[in-house]
Amino acid sequence: MTSSEKRLLLWDIDSTLIDSARAGMKSLKRVVAVRFGVEDDLHDIEVAGRTDAHIARSILAKYRVALTGENVTAFLDDYLVGLGELLPQTNGRVLPGVAEILARMHAREDRVLGLLTGNLERGAELKLRRYGLWDYFEFGAFADDHHDRNELGAFARTRACERHNFDFVPSAIDVIGDTPHDIACGKAFGARTVAVATGTSTVAQLAAHAPDFVFEDLSDVDAVVAKLGW
Ligand SMILES: [Mg+2]
Repeated sequence: MTSSEKRLLLWDIDSTLIDSARAGMKSLKRVVAVRFGVEDDLHDIEVAGRTDAHIARSILAKYRVALTGENVTAFLDDYLVGLGELLPQTNGRVLPGVAEILARMHAREDRVLGLLTGNLERGAELKLRRYGLWDYFEFGAFADDHHDRNELGAFARTRACERHNFDFVPSAIDVIGDTPHDIACGKAFGARTVAVATGTSTVAQLAAHAPDFVFEDLSDVDAVVAKLGW
């Protein structure tokens, strides 16, 4: 691969770009406490790598609330209000190497930065503005587009092709994320998959899902960029 080939880099947010110190989980718990009057640690709800819409549906199903669009939207609206309040109060961080990689890629004409995330767009913006990363990204695919993460790659690719009037073939697209769900999401549309063990999955656990690349973290920016041909 030569570095002059135009590439589309699609990034997961939580535990890939940032660690929001569980602000999202805190907001979910608060909505449950207010709505259902219980302190629920939500240990039985799978969150990592899932879309916000999927998470909301799982929680509403647990509390036997009908999964209507109206109910899901109302739950997510409450979640976003809580997220906006909790993010400034929580001490999260940008993960190692991320800010430098984004700055370098953003300066390049032949690298396009997008988001491919289970967050709602409003939640993604709240989180990334909090940590100064939002303006690096031109567009994204979000939970607003589909509740199944594996469907999101096609939305991101279509948006990139339209905006750039360029046909990004799947092999010219990298999906970067911290969970097996991110790897599956990238493989679902033929992209290269880049796994980074800055979330709860270890390098070995990620490697078991056969990503094209796996890193402990992105702190060695020069090595990461060289290895990926970025
Ligand atoms: Mg993640």
